[in-house]
Amino acid sequence: MEKQIVVSGIRSTGYLHLGNYFGAIQNYIKMQEEYNCYFFVADYHSLTTHPDPKELRPSVFRVLSENIASGLDPEKVALYAQSDVPEIPELYLMLNMLAYKGELEKVPTFKDKVRQHPDNVNAGLLTYPVLMAADILIHRAVKVPVGKDQEQHLEMARNFAQRFNSRYGEFFPEPQVFRFSDETVKIMSLDGNGKMSKSENINATIFLSDDDDTIRKKIMKAKTDSGPTEHNSVMPDYIQNLFVLMNAVSAPGITDTYRSAFNGCNIRYGDMKKQLAEDMVAFVGPIREKAAELYKDEDTLRKILKDGAEKARASSSVTIREARKLMGINY
Ligand code: AMP
Repeated sequence: MEKQIVVSGIRSTGYLHLGNYFGAIQNYIKMQEEYNCYFFVADYHSLTTHPDPKELRPSVFRVLSENIASGLDPEKVALYAQSDVPEIPELYLMLNMLAYKGELEKVPTFKDKVRQHPDNVNAGLLTYPVLMAADILIHRAVKVPVGKDQEQHLEMARNFAQRFNSRYGEFFPEPQVFRFSDETVKIMSLDGNGKMSKSENINATIFLSDDDDTIRKKIMKAKTDSGPTEHNSVMPDYIQNLFVLMNAVSAPGITDTYRSAFNGCNIRYGDMKKQLAEDMVAFVGPIREKAAELYKDEDTLRKILKDGAEKARASSSVTIREARKLMGINY
């Protein structure tokens, strides 16, 4: 049976952290075995905020290096830069004719951006969901792994596909949210305040680029308390988070030992954090080193992008040819 097509975008802003790893990259690694995956660095999307041109290449190369070091395999997936596939902006232009100002203005993420940057409400920002639809529809993808905040954008992609199909003839499949069989992992910030993220408290965020001592220090400072006083108490979420991390990086059985200690009210969080810190160092170290090595090897990174773009263009050019024909651009 032919593999289903999955598309996902990777933002090229900032360094990756454990939330990205366990919440996204780990799923990509599973998907690359079972699906026909198109993963792209969303560099055009990043232009809405006018990044410094000098910063673009380092940030694209960094995000590529970190994803590959984490296990994403450019042999198995098409890994490319959005800007290397000119068919994407062409489809974006076509879809823009089917996207209405009123519906774009109503998108909550657009309204948020208008509030945050009232002096930079550009057309690219308004039409962000159209570019996202083009990213997906260009490969006629059927599955898109998106977070809750992106579900509405995906619904818009379905609407644009439907409108195209009803005007010009059945062509685009309607992309659906990709759901993983098991619950997606959410990693909390080590200070217990919300999600681990690259922009909030960075001392409570473990980056894949952190050195061993930084990782140890951050984990030893993670929020804990004086421990449960009743057997089998409900675990506070910041303690649960340490267990989630331990479960992910420590040898099997270690989590059980600490879980029993928690349930028996004799857990020593200092010991648990020491154990977690060492296991995290052993986990992150090889990824960090591999990413640093790849980051220095620009020739290899360029070759990966070139090969990825070739795979992406093979699929995209067919879509554009057909779409042009259906629209009558066929002279
Ligand atoms: P971002 O860093 O916001 O560009 O997110 C990239 C991907 O990582 C998205 O799929 C997010 O859902 C995922 N992600 C980011 N932070 C976390 C977190 N703390 N826990 C789980 N997943 C996360």
